[in-house]
Amino acid sequence: MAPSAAILSHPIEYLKGVGPQRAELLKKELGLFTFNDLLHHFPYRHLDRTRIHRIVELNPSVEFAQVKGRLLSYEIIGEKSAKRLVAQLRDETGIIELTWFKGLTWVQKSLYEGSTYVVFGKLGFFMGKPQMVHPEIEAGATEAVPVKNFLEPIYSTTEKLKSRGLGGRQIATLSVGLFNLISERDLPENLPDDLIQHYRFPPRFEAYRQVHFPTSTEKYEGAIRRLKFEELFIAQLRLAMLRQQRHSYSRGVIFDKVGDHFLDFYNKHLPFQLTGAQKRVLKEIRQDTATGHQMNRLLQGDVGSGKTIVALLSMLLAADNGYQACLMAPTEILAQQHFAAISALLKEMSIGVALLTGSTKTAARKKLLPQLADGSISLLVGTHALIEEVVQFKSLGLVVIDEQHRFGVAQRARLWKKAVVPPHVLVMTATPIPRTLAMTAYGDLDYSVMDELPPGRQPITTVHRYDDHRVSVMDFIRTEIDKGRQAYIIFPLIEESAKLDYENLMEGYEHVKAFFPEPKFWISMVHGRQPADQKEWNMQRFVTGDTQIMVSTTVIEVGVNVPNASVMVIENAEKFGLSQLHQLRGRVGRGAEKSYCILMTGPKLSNDARERIKTMVATNNGFEIAEKDLEIRGPGDIEGTRQSGALNLKLADLLKDKAILEAAREAAERIVSTDAELEAPENIRLKQYLMSLKGKTVWSKIS
Ligand code: ADP
Ligand code: MG
Repeated sequence: MAPSAAILSHPIEYLKGVGPQRAELLKKELGLFTFNDLLHHFPYRHLDRTRIHRIVELNPSVEFAQVKGRLLSYEIIGEKSAKRLVAQLRDETGIIELTWFKGLTWVQKSLYEGSTYVVFGKLGFFMGKPQMVHPEIEAGATEAVPVKNFLEPIYSTTEKLKSRGLGGRQIATLSVGLFNLISERDLPENLPDDLIQHYRFPPRFEAYRQVHFPTSTEKYEGAIRRLKFEELFIAQLRLAMLRQQRHSYSRGVIFDKVGDHFLDFYNKHLPFQLTGAQKRVLKEIRQDTATGHQMNRLLQGDVGSGKTIVALLSMLLAADNGYQACLMAPTEILAQQHFAAISALLKEMSIGVALLTGSTKTAARKKLLPQLADGSISLLVGTHALIEEVVQFKSLGLVVIDEQHRFGVAQRARLWKKAVVPPHVLVMTATPIPRTLAMTAYGDLDYSVMDELPPGRQPITTVHRYDDHRVSVMDFIRTEIDKGRQAYIIFPLIEESAKLDYENLMEGYEHVKAFFPEPKFWISMVHGRQPADQKEWNMQRFVTGDTQIMVSTTVIEVGVNVPNASVMVIENAEKFGLSQLHQLRGRVGRGAEKSYCILMTGPKLSNDARERIKTMVATNNGFEIAEKDLEIRGPGDIEGTRQSGALNLKLADLLKDKAILEAAREAAERIVSTDAELEAPENIRLKQYLMSLKGKTVWSKIS
C-alpha cells in the first residue's frame, strides 16, 4: 500500500493532542480507534462564525451569534451564588449584555473598558434586550474580517470525554489536526466520473473537508449529498455484486422438470385457483431453480396472501426432480399447523411427508431419521429441530423458511451444510418491509412480493375503542359467537416484567370468563409460562372449534390459521408496534366471513400511539403500514433489519434520503448489470476502492 493510504489507518493515539490516555477514552466512549474513524466521526451541527452580526439584527430566531464591539463598561453585582459579572458591549447599531457567573476574577482580568472584542455565544433575550451568558470572547481583531472562515463543527461526545477536555467543540481541534495531515492522495476518488459529473459532486477529499469544516452552507450541502450518495451506493453495489456473483458462480441443484407430483397436485388437489401473485412468484422460483445456480429468494407476502401453498408447490417441484425439501417454522404450533395443512392437501397423493420438532418422541425420531437418510421422506416440516446435527438428508434440494425474522443467520447457515451442493433457499416473511428498505437491507437476495390477497376476502373492519366501552365490545363478541364464529383477545407482553404481564393476562381472563361463563362458552388460554403441551392443547381446542374464545399473549402472533375466527380484540393496543398489530389482525379475515379488529386503549395516548392506531384503522395494506412504521420509528427498529446488520449507515437516513437512496440503487444496478466484475476503465477506481474495504465493514449477508 502506498504510504499515504496508510495514514488513515494510524491508531488514534498518534494524532497530535490525543496521546494514550485520551485515546483509551476515545476508543471506549466513541469507538474511535484510528484516524479513519475520526474522519468518519462527522459533526452533527455547525456554528456559523463566518460572519459578524450587527446587534440590531439579533432576534430570537438567531440561536448563536457573533458580534464585535467596544466594551462600554462592566460591573460585579449580586452576592454569593447570585454574584455575577455583567458587561455591556456596543457596536454601531446597539448594545448587548454579557454575563458571567463563574471565573469572575479571570474574566475581569481580560476585560478593558474601551477595547474592542469579538464575542460568540448562545443568544438570549431579557425584556426584549439581547444577552449572552458565558460567551467566548476574544480581544483585538481590529480589522474587519471575521474570526473564522469556516463553519465551526460540533461533534457528539460523552460526559466522560468532556471532563477530559474533549467536548463537542474540542474534538474539532483533533479534526483540524487530522486534516493538516491528509490530502487528496489519502482519499482518492472512488466514484466513476460520469456519476460525479451527472450529480455535480465535489471531489471526495473536498467533500470530507466540507462536511467537517464547511466554508458555506451551500458547500456543506453539496458535500453531504455526495457522501450520503457514496455510502448508499457502495453498500448497494456490494450487495448487488454478491447477488450477481451468486447468479454466475454459485452451484445449485437443477430443478428442470415439472413432474407428476407437481402436476398431479396442481390439476387434481389444489383447492382453489392461484392468485396472479402466487403464479408469478412460482414462476420466479422455477426460473431460479432451473439455472444450476443457487436460489436465495426472499418472499414478502402480506398476512393471508397465501405463502404456504407457494412453499408447498415449490417443495413438490423439488420432489419431482429427485430432491428432498424441508419447511422450517419458527414455533412448534406453526410447524404442526403447516404439517397438518400439507398432509391434508396431499392426503390422496403418494409422497412421504413428516414432522420433526423438539417434542417429537424418541421412538418416532428413530423411525424418521433413517427414512430421511434413505430418501423415503420427501417433505419434512419442522422447527429448529431440523438443524440438529443428527438430522441427515439423502439429498436436500430446497429449504423454505417461514417467518424469517425469528431465525438467526447462524442457524440458517447450519442448514446449508446438510447437502453437498447448497440447497435452494426460499425465505418467506409476512413482515412487510418498505421497498426502499428492502432494497438496501436485502440487496443480495432476489426479492419477490405477493401484494395480492386471494379473491373473496372481505376487508377487515378495524375500530378503536376506549376501555370504558368494554361492555359493548363483549356484547359484540357474543353476537359473533352466536353466529358460530370465534374470537381472539390478545394481551400485550411488556418485556420489562413477565410477572406483571402474567397478572394482567390473568385478570383479563377472569373478566372475559365473567362475560362468557361455562358451559355455554369455552375459553382457551395460551401464554409463555405454560408448558408446551398445555399450550398445544389449548391451541388445538381453539383450532378445532371446541373453544370459542382464545385469550392469549402475543405467542399466537405469527402464522396461525383459524379461518372461522372473525374477531380480534387487542387489549392495550397502544403498547404494540405497528407491524405487530398488523400481524395480529392478520389472524382474522382468513375465511369468507366478515371480520373485525378492535383496538382497545386507555384514555391517554402518546402522539405516536395515536398515529399507529389511526394507521391501523385507515388501512389493511401491510406495505402501507410498513411505510408508516418506518416514518414513525425510523429504520433502526424495523423488524428484520435489526439483525441483518446491513444498515450500518453513518450519514444517510433511509427515510429522509429516499431520493438519494433510489438514485444510488439505480446507479449500482446499472453498473453491475453492465460490468459485473468492474473491469471497465471507468469502474477501475470503484473496484480498487471495494478491494480496499474487504473485510473492514460489517456487512453481513442474510444467508
Ligand atoms: P400466509 O401468506 O399468511 O402464510 P396462508 O398461506 O396461511 O397465508 O394462506 C391463508 C389462507 O388463504 C389459507 O386458508 C389458504 O388456504 C388460503 N389461500 C391461499 N391461497 C389461496 C387462493 N389462491 N385462493 C383462495 N384461498 C387461498
Ligand atoms: Mg404463513
